[in-house]
Amino acid sequence: MALNLRFPLPAQFIAVITSRFGWRWIFGKWGFHTGQDHACPKGTPYIIPYKGIVVGKRWGPLAGNILEVAHPTCGNVISACYHLRDYLVKLGDKVSEGQVGAHTGNTGLLTTGPHAHLGLKINGRWVDPHLVYGLHS
Ligand SMILES: [Zn+2]
Repeated sequence: MALNLRFPLPAQFIAVITSRFGWRWIFGKWGFHTGQDHACPKGTPYIIPYKGIVVGKRWGPLAGNILEVAHPTCGNVISACYHLRDYLVKLGDKVSEGQVGAHTGNTGLLTTGPHAHLGLKINGRWVDPHLVYGLHS
C-alpha cells in the first residue's frame, strides 16, 4: 500500500528515535513495542499526518493520553500517538494534514521521559511506522 503520511512531529525530531517498533526488553521483561518513540520536550506539537477523523481520544494506564485518527481515504489506516499532554481536537472532528492535534507529554506508566509514541495500524494490525513515515532517507 502506498501511504503518503507526513512525519507527525517537527522535523528536528525525525532522527531522535529512542525506541523502534518490535520486541524489546523494558521494565524487567520482554514486551512488544507497537510503535516508534521519538524523544521530544513536553508541549511539542503533534501534527496530524494525513486528513482524517478523530476516532480515539482516551486515557490508557500505560499509554497515557491517546489520540487516534482514522484515514479512510488511505484504506483501513489509523495513526496514533501516546503519552500526550493535552489535546486540540475532539472525538469525531474532521482533521487536516498539518493541523496540530495535540501536544506531546509524558503521561501514562510506560514511559521513561517525555516522548511521542507514534503508532500506525493498518487493517487492524500495528505496523512499523518507520517504514511509512519515510524516515529512511
Ligand atoms: Zn513507545
